[in-house]
Amino acid sequence: MIPIPLGSLIIFFMAVGVTVVCGLWFLSFWRDRKREVYRRRIAIQCRICGTAYACEPKHKLVVTICPVCRTPNERNKLQQI
Ligand SMILES: [Zn+2]
Repeated sequence: MIPIPLGSLIIFFMAVGVTVVCGLWFLSFWRDRKREVYRRRIAIQCRICGTAYACEPKHKLVVTICPVCRTPNERNKLQQI
């Protein structure tokens, strides 16, 4: 059996814990960023009433109709807040 000092054992487990927490944080951050990019790609904001609605990019529609005020809107990128 290999003798391991208690201090080294504690530091080892703390390092493993910090690594796991940082890894989970980075994974969560990456997933949220990916989801936000997708939402911005499918979202269209009405130029009249300001309503944001979704339109799948596979439809390839250049002009869509706002579901609230029935105004035709062109597909543009949503602006950062
Ligand atoms: Zn509208």
